[in-house]
Amino acid sequence: MLKGKTALITGSTSGIGLAIARSFAAAGCNVMLNGFGDAGEIERLRAGLENEFEVAVRYSRADMRKPVEIAAMIAAAEDEFGTLDVLINNAGIQHVASIEDFPVEKWDAIIAVNLSSSFHTIRAALPGMKRRGWGRIINIASAHGLVASSQKAAYVAAKHGLVGLTKVVAIETANAGITCNAICPGWVLTPLVQAQIEARAKERGTTVEVEKLALVAEKQPMHQFTAPENIAALAVFLASDAASTITGSAYSIDGGWLAQ
Ligand code: NAD
Repeated sequence: MLKGKTALITGSTSGIGLAIARSFAAAGCNVMLNGFGDAGEIERLRAGLENEFEVAVRYSRADMRKPVEIAAMIAAAEDEFGTLDVLINNAGIQHVASIEDFPVEKWDAIIAVNLSSSFHTIRAALPGMKRRGWGRIINIASAHGLVASSQKAAYVAAKHGLVGLTKVVAIETANAGITCNAICPGWVLTPLVQAQIEARAKERGTTVEVEKLALVAEKQPMHQFTAPENIAALAVFLASDAASTITGSAYSIDGGWLAQ
């Protein structure tokens, strides 16, 4: 049922976003990619998805810290494909420091990318979804959207905010054929987490392999990273007809992190 629809995934040049883009392309959606990276590498990704899945794939370099660029990205997706049916707010960044040492500019950037960008994409995408009477909005939050950890003030605040925004959007669109849900992953081994593991190994004088297990074991009863593809599969399910009455939910996919 997703065949011929259009999905826009923010932050889809890497990690979870890229896996989500692949899964929606595999389901027959046209895809708008977004995110940073080497231009040649992104073009290879874009063309590769187009060839592999025989769907149209475009790329927007919009910076999720910039509301004007976000509005232009949504307009470009609607111009290019005629509709924007599935919006996945995934772009995210991290910085780890205690509150007194937290650089103000890092706080501002994390709130902008991990929270405010979703307000800007959603407000721009909703009029079209409402006109067409169909839409799916999926916000990639985090276990840190539901519980906190030390050293992550901006990230935890932004992700809790994103779960809250998800609920408001769900209520406001409840009878418009639109659903809005959040996905709350535990640990997923992507560049965002790899950087944290490497920093821990350096700080503690251990190895990356030791810190990989330590990081997961600290939070999750299940000592296993979630695969990006499994998060993508949950996103595709939430966009399906079977999920048409699931709205305002926050889905944990976290190896038992939140069960404790
Ligand atoms: P990643 O670093 O692999 O990918 C992040 C993506 O966001 C990249 O494509 C990057 O270019 C893009 N991006 C960053 N800043 C941007 C900006 N200003 N404008 C546009 N794009 C920008 O990270 P990931 O682990 O795949 O994270 C994806 C999402 O999943 C994030 O929101 C993250 O908070 C969330 N998440 C990740 C984990 C995990 O364990 N990896 C766990 C829970 C939630």
